[in-house]
Amino acid sequence: MRLVLVGPPGAGKGTQAQFIAEHLQVPKISTGDIFRANVSEGTALGRKAKSFMDRGDLVPDDVTVDMVRDRLADSDAAVGFLLDGFPRTVPQAETLDDVLREAADAKLDVVLELVVDDDEVIRRLSGRRTCRTCNHIWHVDFDPPQAEGVCDLDNGELYQREDDKAETVANRLHVYADQTAPLVAYYAERGLLVGIDATGPVDDITSRALHALRPFGAARTED
Ligand SMILES: [Zn+2]
Repeated sequence: MRLVLVGPPGAGKGTQAQFIAEHLQVPKISTGDIFRANVSEGTALGRKAKSFMDRGDLVPDDVTVDMVRDRLADSDAAVGFLLDGFPRTVPQAETLDDVLREAADAKLDVVLELVVDDDEVIRRLSGRRTCRTCNHIWHVDFDPPQAEGVCDLDNGELYQREDDKAETVANRLHVYADQTAPLVAYYAERGLLVGIDATGPVDDITSRALHALRPFGAARTED
């Protein structure tokens, strides 16, 4: 199965990506992992990407696309894949369609959207508190330390990372909505989009996802 996973920051996308990919027995391919692999292996693309990152610039689209194209050509992706973090925009989605068609005469089977409303995302992320000593992350509601503001593991001081402040989270959600709404519409028009409620226990979300994906997998075996 060739699958793209989309969802807002704080939707638990990384965790679900891993579980779903394991169940479907396809590689989980995230842009973060691809970047790190290319940089650490010192590939030409990795060096190019690093030169932008070192200057604090965004890695240009064509570099990202080339890295994804290379990764999808690896033999383990022949059985399918779960893409996390790509595409982010409609032009990237169009490029992905081209890459799949040219490389394998293939197309995406489904795009799974993790749906979490903004208030829930803000509650999840803005409740996070990070230990200055060991970087362990606690949560004021879901996983509170015994004493407020103090890490249970090493008595380190807990603080709220800039990324987790409610204003920052709200801003990230705006950026996400602006970028992703057209992408989601693009896939919905093509009949590829399926959304699931991504609130509640992690295992329940995974079950919901696998259930929602079943018709797409079944349709493919009948090809
Ligand atoms: Zn700690």
